[in-house]
Amino acid sequence: MSVLAAEGLFFALMKSQRLYTDYSLDKRATLMALFRGVVDACDADPYLMRAAKWHGEKTQRSCPVCKKSALVELRYTFGEQLGQYSGRIKNLQELTEMESQYGEFQVYIVEVCRECSWNHLSASFVLGDGRERKPPRKVRTLEDEDYTTR
Ligand SMILES: [Zn+2]
Repeated sequence: MSVLAAEGLFFALMKSQRLYTDYSLDKRATLMALFRGVVDACDADPYLMRAAKWHGEKTQRSCPVCKKSALVELRYTFGEQLGQYSGRIKNLQELTEMESQYGEFQVYIVEVCRECSWNHLSASFVLGDGRERKPPRKVRTLEDEDYTTR
């Protein structure tokens, strides 16, 4: 049984979940390297730490490095069918809604310790109802205006 399944994480229950990748082996290697002082994995950039503060959802797992704090998870969504919204952080309820709105998109779970900044990609999987969709029409944003020359 995988570490993630053993921990009973919510996303094991999502109905359209497939192509699940468990990165726990990779994590173990990173941790061992960290404890040997070979790498500094506690390098969450300010953007990631801000995202963890506002969007992170608390887990039952304590930080493997400092052991002081419970890890929070961020769920990043990527996919062609998401169009310009690819790369956004989504909560559980949004993911559940997206399952029936999109044919296929990838979810990456990143765990972050808000105490010591440990961060790691812990898993990824595919969600969606399998029906091909065109990406949503691009909506003009303020950033677009900056690059428009007329
Ligand atoms: Zn920590």
